[in-house]
Parts: sequence; structure tokens; C-alpha cells
Amino acid sequence: MGNQVEENLKTVIQQMELACQASGRSIDDVQLLLATKTVPLEKLQMAMKAGQTLFGENKAQELRGKFPLMQQYKEVEWHFIGHLQTNKVKDVVKYVTLIHSVDRLKLGQALHKQLIKENKTMDILIQINTSYEESKFGASPDMALELAEQLSQLETLNVKGLMTIGKLNATNDETRNCFRLLKKIQTQIKDKKLPRVEMDILSMGMSGDFKVAIEEGATLIRVGTSVFGERYLPDSYYWNEHASQDD
Ligand SMILES: *Cc1c(COP(=O)(O)O)cnc(C)c1O
Repeated sequence: MGNQVEENLKTVIQQMELACQASGRSIDDVQLLLATKTVPLEKLQMAMKAGQTLFGENKAQELRGKFPLMQQYKEVEWHFIGHLQTNKVKDVVKYVTLIHSVDRLKLGQALHKQLIKENKTMDILIQINTSYEESKFGASPDMALELAEQLSQLETLNVKGLMTIGKLNATNDETRNCFRLLKKIQTQIKDKKLPRVEMDILSMGMSGDFKVAIEEGATLIRVGTSVFGERYLPDSYYWNEHASQDD
């Protein structure tokens, strides 16, 4: 018998397949990212051994702690999915290939400044607060287009799409509305044909709602609990109170 992480991973992939079939999509069009917050290295390693190659981290500091694993599993790609403070961009730029959580111009500018220094470019997503909940980060849907226009003027940043956290503890319909709104904003921004703005990635759906997200067009889902089990820290630790908005 395989380990629990491996079993859970298989189950999630089966569920992804079912959701893809149900909505006439190919599983090749939906990437699975495993959210690693609070997860011990041994469990991450189990997932890597089982063939998982995409992981997402919420905090710059914890990303640094993954460095030994990065050295060992070179084929693994890391994304940044958490709230990012402007004074932490350096570490993040060093380790990740995609930042999902760019939600304000000030952060874009801080990234741009660091990237110029390093003579690099970075792929990013714009995070949108589609549930209009106070406790979550993300640009307001009404500001999305303006933010995309502003970010498109920073030539070190490639805007690859959008990210959202769907409404939590909500009905399927409420969550579905969040994902539909993200899809709608994707089309609006795409139609503007801004420089370096491609809009191919829709990062939406977590353990509780990834099936709905796939039905609504997610191209990347972010799953933690379903694979690694319950976390000992509440998500509020990552999503609001402790992380101060720095602008
Ligand atoms: C924790 C987290 C996830 C995964 O959440 P689960 O409910 O454990 O699947 C996805 N996205 C973000 C931004 C997260 O912080």
C-alpha cells in the first residue's frame, strides 16, 4: 500500500478527471498545484516521489525553508500564492516561477524594481477578490482592468492571467458566481490586448470547490487539505490579521 499523501493525490486527480469529463474538458488543460502551507517537508517529499511537480507557498519565509527540497527535486516548480508584502519580494523572485497574488500597483512596482536589479522578468497573475469579503486580499473586481493596464506598463512583468479565492463556506452557486466573475474579468482584460498581458491562466478552486472551478474554466487549481490533511493553523493566519497590508 502506498502512503496516505500518495493515495489522496490519486483521489484528487480522479476527481479532477471526473470534473473535466463532466464539462467536456481535457485534464491536460488543468494544472494541479499543491498548497504547502504548514505541511512538513516529509509530506511534501511523498508528493514529489509520487510525481507531483507543482507546489505553491504562502510565505516568503517558509519558501526559504523549502530550499533543501528545491535542491533535491530540480524538476519541481514553485509558485507563490500568498499575500506578498513589498519588503519580501526579493526572496520570492529568487525561488518561484509564477506569483499568483499581485493585487496592487505598489506590489507590482516593488517587483519591477527588484527584477530590474536582477535583470530578470517574472510571470504573475492578478489576484481578484471576487467574493468581496473584507478578510481576503485581492483587487476589487471594479479595479481589475485599471490594475491590468498599470501593470502592463512595467516591462519586467508578464501578466499570465488571474487568481481568486472563491467564497468560503458558501453554497455551490455562490462559489460558482465568484468563478464566473473571474472568467468575465479575464475576457474584459483580454479584449484590451495590452502589452505582455496574456490571460491564459485562471487560478481558481481549492479542496472544497475545485470541481465547480473546473466546470467554470479553471486552468490551475490549488489544493492543500485534500492531499495533506487538516492544517493546525487557521487560514486567517495566512489570509488576514497577521499579514499587514503595507499600503
Ligand atoms: C491554503 C490555500 C489553498 C489550499 O486550500 P485547501 O482548502 O487546503 O485546499 C489554496 N489557495 C490559497 C491561496 C491558499 O492559501
